[in-house]
Amino acid sequence: MASDAPTPPKPTPPKLNPVRVTIAEEPVDARTTDFREVLHAYSKEDAVLEAKRCIQCRRPWCVEACPITQDCREYIRLIADSDFDGAAKVTLRENPLSTCLCKVCYHYCEDSCVVKKKGVPIAIRHLKRAALEYGNSEIVYVPSKPKDQRVAVIGGGPAGMMAAWELGVRGYSVTVFEQERRLGGLMQTIPAYRMTDADVETDRARFRDLDVTFVPGTKVGHDFPVDRLLKEDGYQAVFISIGTSTHRTLNVPGEALPGVLPALDFLKKVNHGEPVTVGREIVVVGGGDVAMDSVRTALRKSNGGHVTLVYRRGREEMPADPEEIHGAEKEGITFVFLKAPVRIAGTDHVEGLVVQSMELGPPDAGGRRSPIPVAGSEATIPCDTVIVAVGQKADLEGFGSELDLKLTSQGWPEGKQKGFETAVPGIFAAGGRSVVYAMGTATEAADAIDAYLSAKRGEPTGPRPDPFGGPGGFARPPGYTAPIRV
Ligand SMILES: Cc1cc2nc3c(=O)[nH]c(=O)nc-3n(C[C@H](O)[C@H](O)[C@H](O)COP(=O)(O)OP(=O)(O)OC[C@H]3O[C@@H](n4cnc5c(N)ncnc54)[C@H](O)[C@@H]3O)c2cc1C
Ligand code: SF4
Ligand code: SF4
Repeated sequence: MASDAPTPPKPTPPKLNPVRVTIAEEPVDARTTDFREVLHAYSKEDAVLEAKRCIQCRRPWCVEACPITQDCREYIRLIADSDFDGAAKVTLRENPLSTCLCKVCYHYCEDSCVVKKKGVPIAIRHLKRAALEYGNSEIVYVPSKPKDQRVAVIGGGPAGMMAAWELGVRGYSVTVFEQERRLGGLMQTIPAYRMTDADVETDRARFRDLDVTFVPGTKVGHDFPVDRLLKEDGYQAVFISIGTSTHRTLNVPGEALPGVLPALDFLKKVNHGEPVTVGREIVVVGGGDVAMDSVRTALRKSNGGHVTLVYRRGREEMPADPEEIHGAEKEGITFVFLKAPVRIAGTDHVEGLVVQSMELGPPDAGGRRSPIPVAGSEATIPCDTVIVAVGQKADLEGFGSELDLKLTSQGWPEGKQKGFETAVPGIFAAGGRSVVYAMGTATEAADAIDAYLSAKRGEPTGPRPDPFGGPGGFARPPGYTAPIRV
């Protein structure tokens, strides 16, 4: 028999506001002559307005898409309530590189935000920045009860710093060996108009009470063998996070000519104020983020010159972040698609880049359409500088076959077993294709290192402790179900 009880009215779905509060940026004319920051932070009022667009989804899609499970839904809620101190604390609770990430994260969270279905997703990354700018971000991390075990981390990029933080807050004694003089890994090459060394230092300063020691200028595997760390130096576990610190070449004739610059060297030198000479007709080869940073940096160094980007596929296939492509277009970079370099012309200096036209064939293993050369289509683009931005690879000197490392398609080494353990017990290896992705892999490896060392002590493993020294541990936000892997 049908019930007489009235059916409750269907809840009205929350209204989505598709329009993002505009983020102010430096005018193009002014910004392309120096390295001033391009994007401004939201004002307090604008941040609150933008945060109010978030409908606080019961299932936090944004959090699930973040490789480090940053509870962005919660910091957005706090900003909407004008509680910037609370928002800063939530941000820093899961994210020890917040100052860097609020400027350069590829915001996978925003790709999964439900508002994107109707318009522009919530500006989750920019709101992270607002939390830190207007809330108290001078918080220092607190280690839990010291454990009498030491961990060596090789490489001070985002993965190495994240692992050091994860293990440091659990009370381990951590030493991070870095071959360069500065920390930050490839973040050291990100141009100052997006982020600076000072941002890395701001994040690092919050580590000061953890038992984490940074040892710069030491190349493990070259200065001493990796296995010395476990066998002689008193470390119980090792995390290899050496990333992809060397550049790939074009492998075409003429690449040794003066005027050809590998992008990583170029960007690093410019960032550190070292002398670097570019001409006034510059060609950058590549289609990724390093190429985007190279064209925009080259423009700023060219003294009113002209910069062309040459990419062997089409615009749709470009792997670079759309925000960066848009920035480069706005600044007047010329894009030349479906051309691949075959030779660099010149006698004692670069005079041109000889390119061949390409057609797009069927998709490759990665799903992108493969470029196919068109016979007899060679042409020369006159230029005096060629910047090569066609990818990076790991420098594996001293990391032997006994580790049985896997090299990913983009070149960084990983351990093949659960938690990124290598074939040598106690040695783990990870890293990744973006800052936050590398940090996510480091979290997984740190959990595995903690489990490995806890077992050695004969103790069970617990959750990550509160990094501010409070009671309770790390818990995923309410409604969280499963990570979205991007
Ligand atoms: C120009 C450029 C722009 C980028 N822009 C962005 C961006 O906007 N957003 C984003 O999310 N990602 C960006 N990335 C990618 C991001 O920087 C990397 O994905 C990330 O840094 C990888 O972190 P990682 O710790 O795995 O490795 P890395 O950053 O490569 O760090 C590895 C570290 O290990 C050190 N090392 C290597 N071998 C040894 C050894 N034998 N002994 C001691 N130390 C060693 C290296 O010097 C380096 O410091 C950019 C990369 C580049 C090159
Ligand atoms: S760290 Fe990056 S992916 Fe994660 S919430 Fe922040 S902006 Fe989004
Ligand atoms: S998915 Fe978007 S709307 Fe939903 S909680 Fe996250 S930021 Fe807010």
